Amino acid sequence: MKIQLLPSTFDAKGHATLEQRLTCFLIDDCVAVDAGSIAIALSADQRNQVRDIIVTHPHMDHIASLPIFIDDLYPTLQQPMRIHATPEVIQLLERDVFNWNVYPRFSDLKNDYGPVMEYIPIPIGEMFSVAHLSVKAVPVNHIVPTVGLVITDGKSSVAFSSDTAETEAFWEVVNDTKHLDALLIEASFPDEMAHLAEVSRHFTPSSLSRELEKLNHNGMDILAVHLKPTHREAIIKQLKALNIPKLSVMNPGEVYNW
Ligand SMILES: [Zn+2]
Ligand SMILES: [Zn+2]
Repeated sequence: MKIQLLPSTFDAKGHATLEQRLTCFLIDDCVAVDAGSIAIALSADQRNQVRDIIVTHPHMDHIASLPIFIDDLYPTLQQPMRIHATPEVIQLLERDVFNWNVYPRFSDLKNDYGPVMEYIPIPIGEMFSVAHLSVKAVPVNHIVPTVGLVITDGKSSVAFSSDTAETEAFWEVVNDTKHLDALLIEASFPDEMAHLAEVSRHFTPSSLSRELEKLNHNGMDILAVHLKPTHREAIIKQLKALNIPKLSVMNPGEVYNW
């Protein structure tokens, strides 16, 4: 499985910067997990291939450019953009984003080829298919309805925590997975901002290290994501000091293969 954390900001020469401001993971150039930077970072080929987007939750950093992406492709879509999300998240997207005020309700619209956007409800705790991938979604502990994911292509498996604080069900599903190649888990705030992490339901390096004790697998890559850009250096320092084997920070723009 090939995974890229799409960059969301670029320097004056057009090179991706390392800060992660928006969340969008691209799998095998065709399936997106969240859509924060989807409209600003895909290559032309990727733009032509991505028709399945899993939305873990409706926070802006995870959906910021989703409406723009569908808008950009509107006249050329020969199949609908499929938005995979829990019924609760679909309801929030319809109420708060695609509501004719913030943006058009694309799920009601057609171009010359047919519908341009289709919601596919995610069944919690059951395996479902997204393109060539099998996915299991599990609720995590965040301030809006949010799911973590375990995704497999038959050869490798990767777990995504999404945005979360201390949680239980996610680890049960992760620990039940036969073989895990990588865990992508959030580490949003530095330790000195533990209070803010707690009220916004995110991890710090310290709370993450306690959480990782629930993990029964070993040997897989652990990649920290969702680092608040302003505190990136401090968080990286604190993560390194934990001395957890194979724990590193995922770099936007870099291609990871498992
Ligand atoms: Zn969030
Ligand atoms: Zn977020």
